Amino acid sequence: VWLPVECGRSGKTGDTGVPGEGRMAYSYGNHEVYRYWSNGLKCDRVKRVSKKEIYMKTEIVKIDEEQIDQEAIARAGEILKRGGLVAFPTETVYGIGANGLNSDAVKKIFIAKGRASDNPLILHVSSIKMVDSIAKDITPLERQLMEAFFPGPLTIILKRKDNVPDIVTASLDTVGIRMPSNKIAHDLIELASVPIAAPSANISGRPSGTNINDIFEELNNKVDYIIDGGDTDIGLESTVIRVINNVIHILRPGKITKKDLEKYAKVEIDSHVLGDIKNNEKVLSPGMKYKHYAPNTKCILVYSDDKEKMYNKIKSLEDTNTIVICNSSNVSNYKKAIPYGYTEEEISHNIFKILREIDKKEASLVIIEGVKEEGLGLAIMNRLIRACSHNYIKI
Ligand code: AMP
Ligand code: MG
Repeated sequence: VWLPVECGRSGKTGDTGVPGEGRMAYSYGNHEVYRYWSNGLKCDRVKRVSKKEIYMKTEIVKIDEEQIDQEAIARAGEILKRGGLVAFPTETVYGIGANGLNSDAVKKIFIAKGRASDNPLILHVSSIKMVDSIAKDITPLERQLMEAFFPGPLTIILKRKDNVPDIVTASLDTVGIRMPSNKIAHDLIELASVPIAAPSANISGRPSGTNINDIFEELNNKVDYIIDGGDTDIGLESTVIRVINNVIHILRPGKITKKDLEKYAKVEIDSHVLGDIKNNEKVLSPGMKYKHYAPNTKCILVYSDDKEKMYNKIKSLEDTNTIVICNSSNVSNYKKAIPYGYTEEEISHNIFKILREIDKKEASLVIIEGVKEEGLGLAIMNRLIRACSHNYIKI
């Protein structure tokens, strides 16, 4: 797998900069810019590109979901149609969108995010008719699930049709499809009149963007257009499912829970949702393999059903330069604490923003209170376990 290597700037002619593992590098000569790709072992110069291709001038427009500025959204739809990148809000997190049927446009997403080429993208649609234009052999259960949960925070993996480019699906014979309920996202897809490939709007490996400050920090000059639609409602990415022999497999937990899905069929939670992945182990969803949501500061997750035990363990790990991210009712338990809310809904809404801010605090260690791995709590724990790189004490 070849991964793009992130900017190694030098300013000297012919200098390559330092390719880090799995990131994109550019070398900046006096007049020339080259793009490098690395497989973690060696770095290859693959293409000469213009500076313009790297630095785009980003336009940022505020749009109110209740009263959509028709002119502004039509412009965003036009940019998507002609192969540009638009960051936009959905009810889960912000996405970086491109015309999902245009390989060149989709390639730009991988470059902007530094995303591994074997991690497929979800196509976002505005109608069931659009689903049928990209997926085939849809079973009655899959149709029933779409009827029940579309539009909303559910992604369903279906057999793909041939018009879906390989770059979108990482050459799998399936494609992930979601219909967002956020009205800005819905109208944008309808105006573009093509399925929109849109992964979470963050550099790969970092916590997903859920508010305009984080989106600006992450994507200014990397996309053509940013729609500021305020804070996203749910704050965690969609539930990803795949139906195999009429059993629903949850590949990524989200707001739509096991209990919600059990009304329709037997549900199984993939073992990798909370567990680690061994080297070269085959997984149903390639995204499970990658480092995700992780701040640079070392983080540790602690959970026990017995609250006193959890508090005591965390207190034993604390020192003067540690920060505890915890339930808002527990702030006074600890030396230095950042509250993540009272309810699971509040935690889901706030957690990525807090994880993104944590590196600015320069703590020696961040200790995070876990929640029960049930309902929306399962989705929260799936993200927190990854944010802590599986550094998880369960007692
Ligand atoms: P993101 O784009 O960051 O929201 O992540 C999308 C997730 O959906 C990743 O974990 C992908 O691996 C997963 N995904 C997308 N398409 C497929 C597919 N065809 N089969 C399995 N997983 C998929
Ligand atoms: Mg993501």
